Amino acid sequence: MDSLWLQGSTRIDSDQFTPGSSYDVVVAGAGITGLATAVMLAQAGSKVLVLEGRHIGAAATGNTTAKLSLLQGMVLSGLRSMYSIRQVHAYVDASRAAQEWLLGYLEGRGVPFQYRDAYTFATTAAGAEKLRTELEVSLAAGLEVEATRETGLPFDVESALRLPRQAQFNPMDVLRALAADVRSAGGTIVEGVRLMNVRAGNPLTVVTRRGDVRAGTVVLATGTPVLNRGLYFAKLRPNRSYAAALRLPDGLTPPPGMYLSAEPPTRSIRDYPGAPDGGASDGGSPDGRLLLVGGFGHPGGRAPSPKANLDELVAWAKGHYPGAEVTHTWSAQDYQAINLMPFFGKLPRGRGRILFGTGYNKWGMTNGVAAALDIVSDITGSPQAPWARTIHFRTTGPRGTSSAVSFNLDTQLQNVRDNAALKKKPEITEETTPAEGAGVTGLFHGKPAAVCTVDGVTCRLSAHCAHLGGILHWNDAEKSWDCPLHGSRFSASGKLLEGPATHNLLKLQ
Ligand SMILES: Cc1cc2nc3c(=O)[nH]c(=O)nc-3n(C[C@H](O)[C@H](O)[C@H](O)COP(=O)(O)OP(=O)(O)OC[C@H]3O[C@@H](n4cnc5c(N)ncnc54)[C@H](O)[C@@H]3O)c2cc1C
Repeated sequence: MDSLWLQGSTRIDSDQFTPGSSYDVVVAGAGITGLATAVMLAQAGSKVLVLEGRHIGAAATGNTTAKLSLLQGMVLSGLRSMYSIRQVHAYVDASRAAQEWLLGYLEGRGVPFQYRDAYTFATTAAGAEKLRTELEVSLAAGLEVEATRETGLPFDVESALRLPRQAQFNPMDVLRALAADVRSAGGTIVEGVRLMNVRAGNPLTVVTRRGDVRAGTVVLATGTPVLNRGLYFAKLRPNRSYAAALRLPDGLTPPPGMYLSAEPPTRSIRDYPGAPDGGASDGGSPDGRLLLVGGFGHPGGRAPSPKANLDELVAWAKGHYPGAEVTHTWSAQDYQAINLMPFFGKLPRGRGRILFGTGYNKWGMTNGVAAALDIVSDITGSPQAPWARTIHFRTTGPRGTSSAVSFNLDTQLQNVRDNAALKKKPEITEETTPAEGAGVTGLFHGKPAAVCTVDGVTCRLSAHCAHLGGILHWNDAEKSWDCPLHGSRFSASGKLLEGPATHNLLKLQ
């Protein structure tokens, strides 16, 4: 399922990969974090190579809902339950610095974006109670949000918070501009080349299947860090959610703001204006003004039927906008730090020369840019922002520690359950041929096997995730194999799509 942003998006050309070449900085990953980092470094005079395993925007950034907002649902009260108000304040300051940087960049570059008021709304008394806490924490953390019941939504709310003049955009417009600027500042961007490892030394050796390159510094902007140094996969919860774009019938218009629900299931709403020229140029939908909805998420790899979640999202949208016609549906995943505060800076055991950013909890348009600002100040030796210092020296309360312990226990239990369940399933044989669009797992000569049929082709693979061997689950929305442990995902033919894995799935022998 291609997102509204990726479908029909003009391809960004890839540069040539030159094995044996040397760079000041190699950035792995061409999403918002990687390209924002690369542009800042290239413009500061560094020789930069961006390696992208798939294509620009392939993972979260090309599939996001792209609200650039400081009002972020229930994030601040969540942080406050684990950290001091000083640290929550630092998070707000980081988001503000990132928003200012990105808005300044978009304005300067003429990249289209729209200002919108942001709302977090509650439709239940319990949600309204939570919003009161979010309001208190927001004000204490320096964010001037206001309570309201006037939202412009097509349904009543119990209460809502509003923050005026936030922004939204088409993320591929942003990535295209960043990529062009990386190149015009002398940087190189190579698609289809995956960083497989980084070998210690001075310079560092970046290992890929197409050969090695040398780097003074490496930045992992890979969504979840692909190297197991620091064991970040055990500190991050992959969360998958669904999105749809809808054309509304005459007489109905999308609501005027950007919205997120306070209570589950998450419901996110924004619009996408029509292109002024009705064409496919940057800055608007050729299908006219669209309503975008998102949410109905779950931990990656763990929904019995992801398609059912997508269907629920679409049914919810159509319930409020009768006659709406779906133009695009898609899904994507982002990583939530178990202790809620994003991670960025130096990777442990990287001797200060491997940096990373992750754990943005679905707020990467600000958190990814904040990570880039801090990573760049580290590499160029410019003074660290006070918010970055405060976030780096955070201490987690007891609630954070217990949440990390229970997450990892739960991951282990999931693995035990999945292995036990395999033994009870019908055995996989050479004849096993699932129906079109279906995937099954079971034992094949005693080994975990995953077999699916997509577009008439039946693929037989190992059901062991190429990361740490979790048992894969079939994703009936994306037609992919998803790992319920740390969120690695693979295509029907076993090709790595995203997550902490670096290898494809093994074919069944
Ligand atoms: C449904 C959804 C809605 C969202 N809505 C919002 C929103 O409204 N506002 C907001 O602020 N945030 C939102 N987010 C979050 C935001 O989209 C992400 O936090 C952000 O895009 C992450 O950017 P990134 O650059 O870190 O990672 P990504 O965009 O995932 O980029 C990582 C890149 O690294 C590449 N890669 C991976 N491994 C390797 C390797 N070994 N070598 C080379 N390349 C590699 C991948 O192919 C990928 O292109 C949303 C997320 C989701 C899932």
